[in-house]
Amino acid sequence: MRKFLRQYSLLIWLTFILITGFVAILLTSYIVSKDSLQQGIAEKSLPITGDSVYSEIQKDILRPVFISAQMAQDTFLRDWIINGEEEPALISKYLKEIKAKNNAVSSFLVSDVSHQYYHPDGTLKIVKETEARDAWYFRVRKLKTAYETNVDADMANHDNMTIFINHKILDYSGKFIGVTGIGLTLDGMKRVIDSYQTRFHRNIYFVDAKGNLVLAGSAVKRLGTNILKAPGISSIASQILANSKNDSLHLEYNLEDEKILLNARFIPELGWHLLVEQELNEQLKPLHDVLLMDAIISAIITLIVLSLVLITVRRHQNRIEKTAATDQLTSLPNRQAFDFVFENALLDSERSRQPLCVAIIDIDFFKKVNDKHGHLVGDHVLKEIAMIAKRSLRESDVICRWGGEEFVILLKNCTLEKATAIAENLRLTIANNDFSRTTDLARTRLSITVSMGVALCKDKENEDSVFERADVALYQAKENGRNSVYFSE
Ligand code: GH3
Ligand code: MG
Ligand code: MG
Repeated sequence: MRKFLRQYSLLIWLTFILITGFVAILLTSYIVSKDSLQQGIAEKSLPITGDSVYSEIQKDILRPVFISAQMAQDTFLRDWIINGEEEPALISKYLKEIKAKNNAVSSFLVSDVSHQYYHPDGTLKIVKETEARDAWYFRVRKLKTAYETNVDADMANHDNMTIFINHKILDYSGKFIGVTGIGLTLDGMKRVIDSYQTRFHRNIYFVDAKGNLVLAGSAVKRLGTNILKAPGISSIASQILANSKNDSLHLEYNLEDEKILLNARFIPELGWHLLVEQELNEQLKPLHDVLLMDAIISAIITLIVLSLVLITVRRHQNRIEKTAATDQLTSLPNRQAFDFVFENALLDSERSRQPLCVAIIDIDFFKKVNDKHGHLVGDHVLKEIAMIAKRSLRESDVICRWGGEEFVILLKNCTLEKATAIAENLRLTIANNDFSRTTDLARTRLSITVSMGVALCKDKENEDSVFERADVALYQAKENGRNSVYFSE
């Protein structure tokens, strides 16, 4: 484990740095985007929606106000009351006409002289101060302003939300003579609410001063009938109802694990609070998709970088290992590498019961070659002997530079007899080779000979002992005139 950590510490550090870096970048960009999105919804989208809904409702209120004012100033209507309310059919026809032309729910006229209530259908009744149903008339009568707005906030009928304008009628000298007006559905409002609902998934609804839902799209059913009792929003309901100014309030509440942003404003014309809200999670979905995409890209980049580093490190390591195990001059394995190969070969031969031989090669009078021709030629001779040996050996045999001008050959699955023959063959090839360099201008033949000692690894024999015997054989070859192969029995 410790070795693994040491070997791959660069990789571990890189992984750590890359992952930490990517996670930090992804998280900060996600948080910043989320905050700006949330801020955009709370401070821009929701107030703008509130403004649009507010201006729409103002239009819906102003239209009936305008029509009612025209009715109240109509000379025909005023003259008809002043002249004693003769022929009620005339006024019913007038009210019918107004109702049809403006697509109104109702139109009406109450005379203060007779207290008669006139309808487009002509039905007559008398308004009485004692009747609760007629209280509105006596309220309007005392009004300081020219008209009042009365919205039929019947939740049972919220598809046909209606707004009534009760406008005072004055005679030519400014004396109060009755009330007239029309009732219109808040169709425009409903259209706005529905379009925001479908286009932006924003919920729009109105609550009265007591928190009762008075006008709402179908999607806010979860709120029940009163926001003071509805789950989630009840936590901020009192804050909403306490707002009596027309400014918008930015609020938020949690419903289960959903965060909902809410914009509330008070509409003085109606005494209602207009609430526009948006669920945050749904808006965050594109951000989550981007986050996931970025995470995948980061992971891929991390993997690519790590793979590249791993490949480079491996290649570098291999090169170092190879360099450490290879002799620079001849490109043969060096003595350290040979020790390792020899150990394995010895174990193999013991297991498979196949004979294993070693042969030591020592160049004859190499010192003289160096002295006579220079070290470069000496080096050249060493390289060429390495090449000749490699070429003449089998694939399974291993040759290494033992040191100086000595080489060692490991002959696997080879009897002493065969090994001696191979060595003899090699000795002959070297002796017959011309070592003078092809680049030399004045080429004179350069002959080199080698002496060799061969030994067969005996049962349970260790490396030192085999090499000692091979060395003894080599010494014999040297003693007996060089350029020969001797073997140890
Ligand atoms: P012998 O036949 O008894 O082996 O005589 P020798 O001269 O070959 O033996 P000795 O051990 O006296 O000399 C070996 C020489 O090999 C000495 C050294 O300068 C030379 N030598 C060792 N390594 C290198 C090398 O890498 N390049 C060159 N050019 N010479 C080397
Ligand atoms: Mg030597
Ligand atoms: Mg020598």
